[in-house]
Order: sequence, then structure tokens, then C-alpha cells
Amino acid sequence: MQRSLLAVYAHPDDEAFSAGGAIAHYAAQGVRVYLVCATRGEVGEISDSSLATPDTLGQVREDELRCAAETIGVSELIFLDYRDSGMAGTTENQDPRAFINAPDEEVAQKLVAIIRRLQPMVIATFEPNGGYGHPDHIAVHRRTVQAFHAAADPGYRPELGAPWQTSRLFYSAIPRSFFIEMRQQMEELGIDTREFDSFGDSALRWPDEKIHVILDVSSTVEDKWQALNCHRTQFGPDNLFRRLPDERVKLLMSREYFALAWPEPQPGQKLEGLFPG
Ligand SMILES: [Zn+2]
Repeated sequence: MQRSLLAVYAHPDDEAFSAGGAIAHYAAQGVRVYLVCATRGEVGEISDSSLATPDTLGQVREDELRCAAETIGVSELIFLDYRDSGMAGTTENQDPRAFINAPDEEVAQKLVAIIRRLQPMVIATFEPNGGYGHPDHIAVHRRTVQAFHAAADPGYRPELGAPWQTSRLFYSAIPRSFFIEMRQQMEELGIDTREFDSFGDSALRWPDEKIHVILDVSSTVEDKWQALNCHRTQFGPDNLFRRLPDERVKLLMSREYFALAWPEPQPGQKLEGLFPG
């Protein structure tokens, strides 16, 4: 059976930070990788004003994602065409086109149609808090989980395609130990790490014991790095990950972390990779 992976994230660059190495790693093995992106990141940062304006950012970030997707070997890139909802508490949250304001059922139907058409063996999305609590990350998590189960339910909207049970559902998650290690390395070099405090508990709370796959992506970390660099408006000189020397960051980024969500993991269970067998 052809191995295939469907990754579902919220904004251009989520895929590279969360699973860029894994996508490239599996694509290099002949796995078909599909990427769904809910928005074009229209209200993200602009690292350099010569790259985009608030009006052009969505188009620029679409192009950046196409660059990244090609670099890491994505076979098909699908936009859900919602608008970036912005950080929690911003006026962008109120925009009727914002991803968070789309009805759950509408998004579920789009995702179920995609899952039933592509028939992936594995699906990956954010963990419930989406890394650091961005409203779109949380929403894409919730809706992907909903669609994962609905796609397999023969009673759910048969007009969207034949039911499809994906074998495994994973959450990409950054474990507590990663942040501790990164901060330690920065402090050793005398780099300002106060930004870590602003993450609060949310970014730091995914427990290491709830990580089931630690994937060694050192063989594709250069592709991941190149993909991150496609996201020029986001991965600018001020980015936290730019503060360490590149070689150090690449070492940190050579491991990617996934929590098995379905089937329900056994206590202490560890897996070799995302695919069964
Ligand atoms: Zn994001």
C-alpha cells in the first residue's frame, strides 16, 4: 500500500516549524505528502517592509508556502481559503472571513472531502493548544480531529466520498525539554532569552512523556532550513530561532516530536516513526 501523510495546519510556516523535517524525510522515502493550510496568514508579521504590505501579505505568504512545500517534497498543497484570525484579543478575531468564525460543520465537510479523496495513512495536525495558543492553531486542531473521525463514519455525508479510516492521527508538539534545552543553549552564549517568559505556561506545558515519536530528521534538516527560509516575511532576522548560530539551531531542529492521538496510545508507548510497520 502506498504510504501517504496528510498534514493539516493553519498558516504558511506552521508546516515547516512543526513537521518540515518529517515531511521531507518521508517524501524522500517515496511517501506521498499532502498539505492543507487553512489560511494564507494574512495578518502575520512582516519582517521586512520591502517584502509585503498588509494588503499583499496573504499573496506573498501563499508564494512563500509554495516555495517551502516544493522544497520539502509536498505532492499537493490545498488552501481552505479562510482568513488568518490573528492573535487572541485582536480586532482581526471579529472578521467574518476569519478561520475561527467559520462554522465547524462547514470546515469539517471540506476536510472530510479531502480525507476521503486522498485516503491518507497518517494525519498530523497541531496538539490541542496549537503550540502557543494561537486561535487558528486551536481551531485547526479541533476541526481536524472532528474530520478524522467523521471521514471514517459511513453515516456521515456519503455524498462527500466513501468512508475512509486513517490508520493514525498524530499531534505535532514541542515538548517541555525542547524549550529548556534551547533556552539553556542561548543563555550559555549570553543571548537574551526573556522572550521565553512571554510564552507563559502554554508553550512549555506539553509533557515529554506524552511524546510517542521522536523523529530523527537530521538527514533532511537542510531542506527544513531552506523551507523556513522560504518564509521570508516570518523567519526574519529578529526571529527567536535566529539568535543561536545556524548550526546550533539546525541541531535542535533535527528532532521532531509527535504525540499519538489515535489509536489511543498505551502508557509509556514509543513508536519508531509515523507509519505502522
Ligand atoms: Zn501558525
